[in-house]
Amino acid sequence: MTLVPSPKALTSSDTDTSGVPVTISLPPARLRLIRGVVSGVVIGPFLGTVAALALAASSGGRVSAIALIAFAIAYCVTTLAVTIGFHRYFAHRSFKTGRTLQVMFVVLGSTALQGSLLYWVSTHRRHHRFSDTADDPHSPHFARKVPASGWRGFFHGHLGWMFAADMTNVMRFAPDIVRDPLIFRVQLQYGLWAALGLLLPLAIAGLVTRDPRTAVETFLWAGPVRLLLVHHASWAVGSLSHLYGRRPFDTDDHSANNLWVALLAFGEGLQNNHHAFPRAARHGFSWREPDLSGVVIAGLAKIRLIWDLNAPTSADLASRRRAQPQPAEKDRA
Ligand SMILES: [Zn+2]
Ligand SMILES: [Zn+2]
Repeated sequence: MTLVPSPKALTSSDTDTSGVPVTISLPPARLRLIRGVVSGVVIGPFLGTVAALALAASSGGRVSAIALIAFAIAYCVTTLAVTIGFHRYFAHRSFKTGRTLQVMFVVLGSTALQGSLLYWVSTHRRHHRFSDTADDPHSPHFARKVPASGWRGFFHGHLGWMFAADMTNVMRFAPDIVRDPLIFRVQLQYGLWAALGLLLPLAIAGLVTRDPRTAVETFLWAGPVRLLLVHHASWAVGSLSHLYGRRPFDTDDHSANNLWVALLAFGEGLQNNHHAFPRAARHGFSWREPDLSGVVIAGLAKIRLIWDLNAPTSADLASRRRAQPQPAEKDRA
């Protein structure tokens, strides 16, 4: 199988063979706008969650069943659209599928409010290319291109990276998305899909219950509370799963299999497995490694909605496996 080139082969001033730079600098006005939007996306779900908890407290700690069901469905759909769609399909092409599912991945993945498909894929491919070096967009081992550790490194790897003054160059890392007219057009409507993801639960709950309080409660749980958990689970993949966990495979970075993150992010916390075999459709290689996305992928393949799944052979796994799995922190000390 094809592996992503070693991150150590490239440094900050490098360009690839076509001479396209790794990042582009943003004009001050655009940088201010992006930082404002990112601040809203980070703080908004937190404030909405406080409101949801206050509303529950005002009714003796009770939350309506429709709000909790909407939350569970929204959490699962949003997370799976990002893990299976944005990540394993678009960023790594780890299986094949038809146009209908591709468009659904873009629409539903946009409701995660983690940026457009183009932004997500280009940032993620850069993460693999430069994993845990100065040019990794979200390593907890570097902040603003200098080595970092402790809380500073964790904060940068978790969410501080989104405020960076330069942006990943999409023409270097995701030209395939730019050159796909249908997918490019659908992902351009990112704001519309994100807004629909927030407003649909409100509208459905309002129509079903005819009760404004339940409608608002459902909006808060399926919107801000869901986003708070989806965001921090996803961001923990970049922070905690590059800090803590086991490292069964030999990779040139700090990626680790963090089972807690894997449970919350539906398999994405198995970063060491993933960095060793980036194109594998399933990240869990044994029953001990929780990978709900991989289970859903297997189900979709069974009903022939997806096909040509990329999977490492047992010889591939054996060739990269360490004699002694090591914890992430001690590995490169
Ligand atoms: Zn990683
Ligand atoms: Zn990846």
